[in-house]
Amino acid sequence: MATIGFIGLGNMGGPMLANLVKAGHTVRAFDLSDAALARAEAAGATRAGSVPDAVEGAEVVLTMLPAGPHVRSVYLDEGGILAAAAPSTLLIDCSTIDVDTARAVATAAEAAGLHMVDAPVSGGVGGAEAGTLTFMVGGPDAAVTAARPILEVMGKAVVHAGGPGTGQAAKVCNNMMLGIQMISVAEAFMLAKRLGLDAQKLFDVSSKASGQCWSLTTYCPVPGPVPTSPANRDYAPGFTAAMMLKDLKLAQEAAARSGAATPMGAAAESLYALFCNQGHDGLDFSGIIRMIDGQE
Ligand code: NAD
Repeated sequence: MATIGFIGLGNMGGPMLANLVKAGHTVRAFDLSDAALARAEAAGATRAGSVPDAVEGAEVVLTMLPAGPHVRSVYLDEGGILAAAAPSTLLIDCSTIDVDTARAVATAAEAAGLHMVDAPVSGGVGGAEAGTLTFMVGGPDAAVTAARPILEVMGKAVVHAGGPGTGQAAKVCNNMMLGIQMISVAEAFMLAKRLGLDAQKLFDVSSKASGQCWSLTTYCPVPGPVPTSPANRDYAPGFTAAMMLKDLKLAQEAAARSGAATPMGAAAESLYALFCNQGHDGLDFSGIIRMIDGQE
């Protein structure tokens, strides 16, 4: 069992930490939020007073932070992880951030003699609670091998995507597909309604035909066909439209920097920006069907 420093104890980090404690690891927790720290303590972690306090004595440091600037600051600032970690500490960043920041931080970690992987997740808060996340991991073989048993406590699948930053690349590509597909499913149900085709009938056909995708079969944006989808609870999240917009922005930034043409991704980003600007950023991302259907 390892001593783990865990920084970033929000909606995702909190339950991930709880699963590490349950598995018998010793966890030293730090967050800027006192409420998040109290929840971590209740889950069985030790409260740390600062980043260095969480990192000291830890063999593994895990971060689950909102975005790239937070990761850059928590790792690279004076009093940050790289300054505090003992040589050979394993660093695992599970936040969803841009590929360039992930690579810059990994390069700095390597220069400091530390092993690092980027390991963003898919599966949301439900997956974090159930310990069934999918990890997309970028980094050198030895670091990924060392990270695997820790990640397997929190997830059901750990895919080594390649070198540093490729975990983030996989995440951004996957979520661009997801955003585009949700809009395509929403458009199809909206068209079906106008053509007098029952939503359940379209589901029965497309869930077994070539239109099939996760946005249809697991997260169907109309109420009824998939009883567990957010559409059946007035689009309470789930995965918020704001989170989807964040990931689509990351995809567009990555496309611009790499010279990739992603016109459907660009359209999805604009549509989610519009949906969020209408005040729906806290709704589940499948709620975009309301806008596509011309509802408020
Ligand atoms: P969150 O906002 O609930 O949690 C982030 C936590 O980081 C907060 O508790 C915040 O106080 C803390 N924090 C911020 N700056 C800090 C600092 N300098 N030092 C210490 N703590 C700091 O976010 P979340 O939903 O847990 O998401 C975390 C990451 O996971 C994001 O990158 C997100 O894109 C990604 N993600 C989220 C989901 C989801 O469904 N929520 C799914 C997949 C991936």
